[in-house]
Amino acid sequence: MKQKVLITGAAGFLGSHLSDRFLKEGYHVIGMDNLLTGSLDNISHLFPLEDFEFYHHDVSNFVHVPGDLKYILHFASPASPIDYLQMPIQTMKVGSLGTHNLLGLAKAKNSRILVASTSEVYGDPLVHPQTEEYWGNVNPIGPRGVYDEAKRFQEALTMAYHTYHGLETRIVRIFNTYGSRMRVNDGRVLPAFFSQAIRGEGLTVFGDGSQTRSFCYVDDLVEGIYRLLMSDYHMPVNIGNPDEITIKEFGEEVLKLVGNPKATLTYKDLPTDDPKQRKPDITKAKEILGWEPKFDRAEGLRLTYEYFKKVVTVD
Ligand code: UDP
Repeated sequence: MKQKVLITGAAGFLGSHLSDRFLKEGYHVIGMDNLLTGSLDNISHLFPLEDFEFYHHDVSNFVHVPGDLKYILHFASPASPIDYLQMPIQTMKVGSLGTHNLLGLAKAKNSRILVASTSEVYGDPLVHPQTEEYWGNVNPIGPRGVYDEAKRFQEALTMAYHTYHGLETRIVRIFNTYGSRMRVNDGRVLPAFFSQAIRGEGLTVFGDGSQTRSFCYVDDLVEGIYRLLMSDYHMPVNIGNPDEITIKEFGEEVLKLVGNPKATLTYKDLPTDDPKQRKPDITKAKEILGWEPKFDRAEGLRLTYEYFKKVVTVD
């Protein structure tokens, strides 16, 4: 009998890549998703497999899974600023009630659980690069508060289950990640820039584009998460690529790669509370997990462009 892994948000960008990885490692994967922001297209290739099953379920409601569960990975949540602006209550519920249900399930099944946290717990950071020791600079009532505070609550609840119930818990703080299966219209910068460049439209740079991000290719992220789950370290760990770039420079890179002469940079208002800079300090991941990213941005963007070429429709 193969060991079972429950992956919530399995039809999403990261959940689907994690499902692939755990199947490859020889586990039986139970994917769960309410398909609010996920898509069955991301996992349609898994449905014929004997070792994959799918539950269409919202983890904000009681979660029942029969039999033993070795691991639980909680990756269900709207994750782009546009999504959580449009779905603020669902975002808060899945991070809080959903996490509570899954911690309860982990306790009942004696499973090890890894929860997906985020660099958003650092808010608009006053410490740069961000180390796990930094407590963050979050506006609880701003537009991003629904995501940031749900994830902060998630971390607190996960630590409480660890200390009070002795549950085996892992917390990954995920920084900006990209790759195939990102939703074309999720509003995040990379899908936006790729689809605009392919269609020959203006790339919508918010503000003056001087804000920074540090983008990690999805295969690197999945490797880091796998290693963290298998480690014995229960404190939060940053996983991301520390190669920092301004959004304007990032737009220029996408323009160059796609090479559509009709596409240019256009400028729009900066959203409220948009973090000015973000870059992970990955010392912990290096020391504890022996992990660091292998894909540089040029290679990661080339691979990701292949995906967007297939899924972006041009009128
Ligand atoms: N951004 C942009 N144009 C877009 C979408 C996003 O300039 O069409 C900027 C956004 O203001 C932010 C950065 O790109 O500074 C990353 O935004 P994203 O929504 O991808 O995620 P975030 O890192 O803010 O959570």
